[in-house]
Formats: sequence, structure tokens, C-alpha cells
Amino acid sequence: HVDRKEQIKVSRSKLPIISEELTIMEKIYNNDIIIISGETGSGKTTQVPQFLYEAGYAENGMIIGVTEPRRVAAISMSKRVNEEMNFEESESKVSYQIRYEGTTSPNTRIKFMTDGVLLKEVQNDFLLTKYSAIIIDEAHERSVFTDILIGLLSRIVPVRNKRENPLKLIIMSATLRVEDFTDNRRLFKEIPPCIKVDARQFPVSVHFNKHTYQDYLAEAYRKICKIHRRLPDGGILVFLTGQQEVNVLCNKLKKTFPKRDFTNHQLKSDDNNKKESNGEQKINLDDYSTMPLIDEENEVGQDETELNLDKEDIMSDDDDEEDEEPSEDNPLRSSVKTEGYKPLYVLPLYAMLSTERQSKVFEQIPEGHRLCVIATNIAETSLTIPHIKYVVDSGKIKVKFYDKITGVSTFKICWTSKASADQRAGRAGRTSPGHCYRLYSSAVYNDEFPKFMEAEIARKPVEDLILQMKDLGIDRIQNFPFPTPPDQNAVKAAESLLVQLGALEYDKARIKNKKDEQITKITSLGKIMASFPINPRYGKMLTLASQQEDNKLILSYIICMISGLSVPELFLDGDTTINANPTTTSNGTEDQNKEPEKISVKYSQLRQQIIGGLTGSHSALLGDLMLLLVALGAVEYQQFNSQKSNDQEILKFCEQYGIRYKAIIEARKLRKQLVNTVNLIFPQIDLTIDPQMKPPNEEHAKLLRQLVLSGMVDRIAKRHDEILIKQDGKEIKNAYQSLLLAEPIFIHPSSVLFKELPAFVCYVDMVETSKMYMKSVCAIENEWLP
Ligand code: ADP
Ligand code: MG
Repeated sequence: HVDRKEQIKVSRSKLPIISEELTIMEKIYNNDIIIISGETGSGKTTQVPQFLYEAGYAENGMIIGVTEPRRVAAISMSKRVNEEMNFEESESKVSYQIRYEGTTSPNTRIKFMTDGVLLKEVQNDFLLTKYSAIIIDEAHERSVFTDILIGLLSRIVPVRNKRENPLKLIIMSATLRVEDFTDNRRLFKEIPPCIKVDARQFPVSVHFNKHTYQDYLAEAYRKICKIHRRLPDGGILVFLTGQQEVNVLCNKLKKTFPKRDFTNHQLKSDDNNKKESNGEQKINLDDYSTMPLIDEENEVGQDETELNLDKEDIMSDDDDEEDEEPSEDNPLRSSVKTEGYKPLYVLPLYAMLSTERQSKVFEQIPEGHRLCVIATNIAETSLTIPHIKYVVDSGKIKVKFYDKITGVSTFKICWTSKASADQRAGRAGRTSPGHCYRLYSSAVYNDEFPKFMEAEIARKPVEDLILQMKDLGIDRIQNFPFPTPPDQNAVKAAESLLVQLGALEYDKARIKNKKDEQITKITSLGKIMASFPINPRYGKMLTLASQQEDNKLILSYIICMISGLSVPELFLDGDTTINANPTTTSNGTEDQNKEPEKISVKYSQLRQQIIGGLTGSHSALLGDLMLLLVALGAVEYQQFNSQKSNDQEILKFCEQYGIRYKAIIEARKLRKQLVNTVNLIFPQIDLTIDPQMKPPNEEHAKLLRQLVLSGMVDRIAKRHDEILIKQDGKEIKNAYQSLLLAEPIFIHPSSVLFKELPAFVCYVDMVETSKMYMKSVCAIENEWLP
């Protein structure tokens, strides 16, 4: 029995999906697999788990599982459902599990998790016997793990349903292409029924720009100002591509339309100010909502240079020739600028933001303000923001591309798909008719936008995926019922890497004819590697480390290193976000005018000081990996040493050396998790985290470099001793030759080995920015080379 609060009952009753409860539950009862597609905000994620619960699917100790491709969604949706069902949070009846943390307990009845977590569970319990129903949410996002889960479940469900405790599969997606699931005969023998939830979607008029400006950030700013000055009440939702852009625009808008206090509680706000200036704020490690933030008023203005805006231009925008394509119902074309407009309540929304700050978009808007949410793609379908009437769409999306063979990654800002642009527009029509302003022309939309985004599996290297699948006993990858199969070359490259790492071997017994030659099977080393929630390369390092004589210490070092390497962009450099730290020192402004390379070099020098303080040349040889050990060690020590957890110190440390605070916190969590996993697999080792871990001595450093090499077998480069001359006569200095690429590559200027230039190096990452750069580099010995 669920006893919901009155207020929740009211808001639930307004959701379109509520009237479909009977239909949905009947279909689930009569079918093993169903698809629910529905407009974003219709209530799929929050309500379907509750329908199942109330229909008894969580009885007899069974669990209802819900997978999300994004961690943020798993956490915030579990919290929301718990609240709606009016359960005590401590009961953990509705819980979440993500890679680093979770709230599950034996009481858990509804479990939200990332798709990767469920895939790991399949490994231990292939039939997922704990679950009575699995909901695969946001299937349209086509994340790799979601795709694989759907493929696996298409086989698991029929097996389970021959047994006593059956399993239901519910695939949920926004109203995007579902044909990849329904028209795929290899996936489902019988076409699963598809229920379409019709949302009360109000009409949205779409207005294209006449011109497509390069600087969409500036254009977004202009458009928001115009909407705010001229158009009636209603929230504005803006789609940009990344965290830094979001912060820049937030700051700019906050400065243009400052918040005002309409409540006249002068005393109260004075109180708040005092607290802040005394520096008395309490700071909580896992959440920097309470920390001084770069987008708070006092920091505003530092991003001025980013937005190349001519003040005149903004202020005189009514003299502008109209910049939208003519359309009858565009209110901006007939409206006039109103004086004395309201203040704007600007909120950022991106995945890296703490859950608490994210949930601000659901809270009450301060009196007399207009809501303006500046978001990344996350607001497209995963989170539904209320009160939106205007959408401003940059049309852009940030996509990570990998070279299928070399694994070189690049971030590119591209046009999103038509389907996704239409989703974004739809966000304006949830509560009343709305308007969507597209910052690009209809010609660009028609000619340059792809119809749909490509499934992630078609873009990513698949070595971890192949290892997981082999561990599940799926030998013939090409026979697996993928919704979209991965690229054959990528699969081949992954298999040969895994063979090189010793995780797979060619199955000689099964070579009957030439065609079978390629069949590989998992080795015992591969089985251990697959049990770690990390890339197989790191899995190899860990497994080998556990076999060393001095394994406890070596394992501690390698775990620490891997934790740091597994978290993206732990060390800032000139190419990545300057604003990524929650606090920015006053030199932030100065930094932004410099070349990225100069910033990188500055970081490199700073970081050399950390390592320079250590004795012995072995520290230098370990390079960036030593830096990781020292940085993570220092943070651990801070925590241990100060009586109250003194996060200010850690923040200061991060700022000083250009370390992303949130990344280091994540790395600490992963470190704990890896220690626990190692203890489960090798109970005799009994590993702990030593907060006073000393930097490795010479012998250990040598061993560590060899271990790193064992995982990075193909990521080796040799320095060119001569200066290369380009075709145009220009000189190329300090170039390296890698095993994978013909063209010259370089040590990234933020690396501590940037000046050192060892003869042979091993690198963890290669990225392409202005050049091909190696990142996370250590030196290796000639004689270790394969
Ligand atoms: P769907 O999954 O179909 O996109 P959801 O179930 O996520 O829809 O959302 C249903 C409704 O619940 C939306 O109107 C959304 O604004 C609201 N909602 C979701 N999370 C919260 C929250 N934390 N606080 C308040 N309202 C929320
Ligand atoms: Mg949803």
C-alpha cells in the first residue's frame, strides 16, 4: 500500500501517463516485453516503477530494476520516486546504485541504477533472478550499455519465463525512433507491443534565424535578452553544449539582469551576507552547492572576454533588422521593448553539477522573477523542467569521437540531429503554447542536420564491451542481437588488443575451417580483468600487480594511479575548462587571455614543483603518473590529518595545481571501490587505504612503470632525435614517433615531462587539439620494449 501526500496526488493526477495505467499494466501482464514511448515529461520514469510496485511486482522479495544511461538521472529519479511514494529515506525502499556509490539495502524494492551497473550484475547472475521487472529507461539515447542490455535481455526474458519466477522487460523511450528495436527480427522474435503515451503537448511555434552565426553563445545571449525584455511571462530554457559555456552565459545574464529581493526581508538577507563574508559557510565534500561558486554574483565579470559582445550592440537591439525568418506567429517581430522588466532567475544545469544544485530547477522561482535555465543536452529528455515557455536552441551538441583503431579521442561541437532539435523545441510546450527560437537557419536545419544521432556503439572503442561479453560466454560477437551492431573493424581492433593483453586467446579447438579462425575465448587472466569496473588495460595492470611479491604496496600504488586515470580530466590544462574548479582565484581573468599552450606550460611548471620536492630521479621518470600518486595521496592525507575534514585545504591545493576538485573526489571514491573489489577477489591480500602512503621508492617506481607498460602495450613512442622538416620548410621540434600513427606526436605541454623529453615514453591518452598530443606520460626503458 502506498500512502501518498495530497500534494503529490494532485501533481501525479495531471501526468498524461496516469490515465494509461490500466492499459500499460494489462499489456505488461499479457506480454513479456513491451515498449513505452512517450513525450518527455509525461511521467514514464517517475510513474511506471510505481505502477509495477502497486501491481505487486516487488512482492516476495523481488526487485523492480530501472536503468538510466546517466548517473544524474539514476540519483535524482530515485529520490523523486521515494518522495512521491512517501517512504522514509532511511528505509531505502527506493534506492540507487551508480559506479561509485549507492543506497541499496536488503529492503530495496525499486532500484534505479546506471545501465553499466546492471550489466555487471548480469555477469554474476545471468538470469537476473532478483528482479521481477527491468525497465530500460531512455532507450532512445542508445548508450552502449543500454544497447547491450536490450540484446541480452531479449535472450534472458524467454528463459526466465519458462521458469517459476518470470521477468518482465519494459523498454521506455522518448518519442524518437523505436524502429531499431521493433523492426529488428534478430532482436525480438515477436514484435513487442508499443504503447504510445500521448502527452498534453501544446503547440510550439518554431522560429529559425535568418543567419547562422558562428558565435552561437553571443547570439543566445542576444536572443534571451530580447525575449526577456519583450515577451510575456514564462520560463526560458537554453540549450548549449558544455559546462563552461553554461557558466559563461549564466554569469553574463546575472550581470545584465541582477536578482532583486521582493520580499523585503532585509534582515534575513543581511544575515546571509554576514555569514558568507565571515567565511563561516559549512562545506560538504560531496557537494559544492554551498561553496563560493564562479557563477555567484561576486565573481561575475571574469568571463567577459569569452563573450565577445559589443555592449552597444546589445542595448540597441530594437534597431536591429529582424534576425528571424519571417513567420506570422513570432511575437518578437511585433513586440516592443518594455521598460522596467523583471529580474531574471538564472540557473545552470549540466551533468557535473551537484544533485542539490540541479534540483533547484524544480523548486519555487523567487517572487517576481522569470526563470531562465541554461542547460546542456541533459534537459532534452532526462530531466523535465517545469514552467518553460520559450526555448532557445543553439542546435549544437558536444560529441566525443574516437578513432576506431588508434583510440585517439577528440571532442567536437557538431550540429545535433533533427530529432533532437525537435525534442528541444517540445520542451516549450509542456504547460502552455510556447515558442522555440533556433539560432540557425532553416536551410542549415534541412541540409546539415542528420535525421537521428548515431548510436554510441558505432562511435566508441569497444574493448571493455568485448571483454564483458566474452566473460558472459558470448563468443561470436557477430551473432549477438545488437540493436545496432558495432563497427566490424572496431571489434577486430578490440579483440586483437585483448589478445595482446592476454585477456583473450584464439580458441584452437574450435577452428574447424578457415572462417572460424577468428574465434577468441576468455583466459583466466581475462576473467579477473573483467571483474574490475575499469578499462581492460587498467584491469591488466591491477591483475599483474596482485601477482607481485610485494603486492600490497604495489597494488596500493597502482590502484591510486588507476583511480586518477579513470576519471576524466583530473588535471586541468590549457585545452580544457579553465572554469572547472568551483572556486577560481583572481588570476582567472588573466589566464583567459593567454594561449592554451601557455596555460598548460604554467601548469606543467607548477606541477614540477610537487615532484621536484621528492628525491630521486625515479620520480621524474614516472612523470605524470607520479603526479597522480602525489596529488591523490596529498588529498587523502589532508582528510586524515585535519580533525574536522578540512575541505578548504583540499580546494586550495586543487586550485594551486590546476586539479579539478570534483574529479579528485570521484577518484577517491573509485579508489575505495577498487580496494574493496580487490579484497573480494583476493581476500588474502587484505588491502587498506593508507592515508600516509609514501611516494614509491626507486625499485617500486620501476615496477610501476613496467606494470603501466603491460596495460599500454601499444601506447609507446620514441623521440625523434633529429629535427623534422615539414613540406613547407617549417621545423618540427620535440616530436615523437608512435606505434600507431605515421604522423609525429608530442608530449602535451601540461605534462611534467614536457621539458624532460625522455627517449622512450609510454602514454595513457592521445588527444588531438592543435597537434596530436600524448597525455599522462611516463618514461620507459629501451630494453622493456616488446
Ligand atoms: P518522463 O520520464 O516521461 O520524461 P518524468 O517521470 O521524468 O517524465 O517526469 C514527470 C514529471 O515529474 C515532470 O513534470 C517533472 O517536472 C516532474 N518531476 C520530476 N522530478 C522532479 C523533482 N525532483 N521535483 C519535482 N518534480 C519533478
Ligand atoms: Mg524520463
